[in-house]
Amino acid sequence: MPGTPQRYTVTAALPYANGPVHIGHLAGVYLPADIYVRYLRAQQRDVKFICGSDEHGVPITIRAQKEGVTPQQVVDKYHAIIRDSFQEFGVSFDIYSRTSSTTHAETASGFFKQLYEDDKFIEQTSEQYYDEKADQFLADRYIVGTCPNCGNDNAYGDQCEKCGTSLSPTELINPRSMLSGNSPILRETKHWYLPLDQYEPWLREWIVEGHKNDWKTNVYGQCKSWIDQGLHPRAVTRDLDWGVPVPVPGAEGKVLYVWFDAPIGYISATKDLLPGDAWKPYWQDAGTKLVHFIGKDNIVFHCIIFPAMLKAHGDYILPDNVPANEFLNLEGDKISTSRNWAVWLHEYLQDFPGKADVLRYVLCANAPENKDNDFTWKDFQARNNNELVANLGNFVNRALVLTHKFFAGKVPAAVGFTTEDEDVLRQLGEFPARIGELIDNYRFRDALNELMNLTRLGNKYLADTEPWKLIKTDEARTGTVLHVALQLAASLVTLMEPFLPYSAEKLGTMLNLEKGAWSAAGRPDSLATGHQLAAAALLFDKIEDATVEAQVQKLLDTKKANELAAAVAAPAKDDVSFEQFQTMDLRIGTIVAAEKVAKTKKLLKLSVDLGFDEPRTIVSGIAEHFLPEALVGQQVQVLLNLAPREIKGIQSQGMLLMAENADGSLSLMQPSSHVRPGSSIA
Ligand SMILES: [Zn+2]
Repeated sequence: MPGTPQRYTVTAALPYANGPVHIGHLAGVYLPADIYVRYLRAQQRDVKFICGSDEHGVPITIRAQKEGVTPQQVVDKYHAIIRDSFQEFGVSFDIYSRTSSTTHAETASGFFKQLYEDDKFIEQTSEQYYDEKADQFLADRYIVGTCPNCGNDNAYGDQCEKCGTSLSPTELINPRSMLSGNSPILRETKHWYLPLDQYEPWLREWIVEGHKNDWKTNVYGQCKSWIDQGLHPRAVTRDLDWGVPVPVPGAEGKVLYVWFDAPIGYISATKDLLPGDAWKPYWQDAGTKLVHFIGKDNIVFHCIIFPAMLKAHGDYILPDNVPANEFLNLEGDKISTSRNWAVWLHEYLQDFPGKADVLRYVLCANAPENKDNDFTWKDFQARNNNELVANLGNFVNRALVLTHKFFAGKVPAAVGFTTEDEDVLRQLGEFPARIGELIDNYRFRDALNELMNLTRLGNKYLADTEPWKLIKTDEARTGTVLHVALQLAASLVTLMEPFLPYSAEKLGTMLNLEKGAWSAAGRPDSLATGHQLAAAALLFDKIEDATVEAQVQKLLDTKKANELAAAVAAPAKDDVSFEQFQTMDLRIGTIVAAEKVAKTKKLLKLSVDLGFDEPRTIVSGIAEHFLPEALVGQQVQVLLNLAPREIKGIQSQGMLLMAENADGSLSLMQPSSHVRPGSSIA
């Protein structure tokens, strides 16, 4: 694209307001978008950063039904949680709007109406799945079945989340209703379709030919594959009662498809942000660069369907780029809202107060830019301790503390630069352009790595020059070294701001320096001789083992709860006759003594009162589940007439009966009230 755009419209995927935001969302969408926008602002570009809650669609109504509340209550709750956690995480939207707003209803409705009046839709009556028991058509996620593309058994009516294919409900194999679990019937209903097939030649020219070199290969590849498979007309209305009503005659009880109205939400949010017609240049002027940040599951909607809508309308610009990321996994497992396998942003912010930048750093350093990636708490701790504390924080802290110690906190004069000083200053001058170019090309991971290379350069310079030793022999030279080191620290205020905004602000306060424009950053004279610094404080502190172990334990607990919930009963054994059953002598006994069997891990020797003159000795393999002293006095079930056998030299005269949980733990089988030892079970 020749020249610098006049202005930028940057959108981040609208989060569904049916649950909170997790680290996968942040790494895939919101963090890269925020870094990009903060960088543009540092260059004093005209940019609007647009987002909001997506409050329509079937996931919202399903959640409402599950929780026994209204869809509005669901979206009000999650809109607030999402908005507040984004803000605390430093995601610097110019507006965080919502698609249940009046502006949005008018905008989406107006958009549809114009396409309708311009005859851009196909009107078609067809048979759609209907749940007779629930008395409702089954749109999108109300229906699940087997994906015809990859065989996933839980593909939704609009998309298979496993392979990313966009689907129609009638394409599903063995469809079933999410409302009742029943097989649905087909019933006639009228809908409006966007004939995507008519846009295929244009999409091919625009994407396959036009964006071969500037779109990410994962995005380009997905788009090309869909276009090559052939596009089909796509219904943009639904039989539902939650959403933007279809604004044309004969459409009672129908709303706009959520994927028709949601991307229009970017436009309505811009209208909410700006007065009068001021929103228009951001969406309709050819000098505007439009960039959509999304996750890979949204590629089809942002690269094929929304552009086709914009093209059909005719008044709008098209996205310049759609830098979608791959997925982030958590501790080797796919992040899942339904399985609660996630690190939730609002919980992180509670558990790690004042550490938004640490998570920003780790998620960017490990971002799934080109392939799926994994977040682990061990890596989180290591990156904090080895990179933020030992590299970035250590450099800044040494430069400031030594200046306070030797020069009363005033930037010392530089008296004659050596080749080494000049080399460091020259390298420093090259960083802003290098980091900026990587951000311009959506390579945020590499950009962050360059930022860390700059602080590595600073640490190496201090290690080589050793100003803490030099002060004893050459105060003037020490002053020059710290002068150079402080210029490097000063450039960080601007260069690290897109990635670590809170730490950049903190550093700016310590240096008594405002953030500068990106192009001027790193200039060797940005801190003048004699400039007074404020007090030094640590930018980052160490994260201890116990802190991350607690987070890992939280995930292990989740995993265990999921396993218990998913456990199924063992299959039934073969029948026995009543006579066979009666041969077993089952009794209640009271444990009167218990001790571990020497030189074994699993065995306990128990004395059980079964109502006879002497207690019986029973050896049981339960030592890993119960402490001997906790068993004394407990009543238990015993199979009395199991043939005696010798275990580790002890004669065992019976067997304890236990219940085994799905996770392998054991429970005693006790009577509901205390009974006389020796009582029969029948
Ligand atoms: Zn699939």
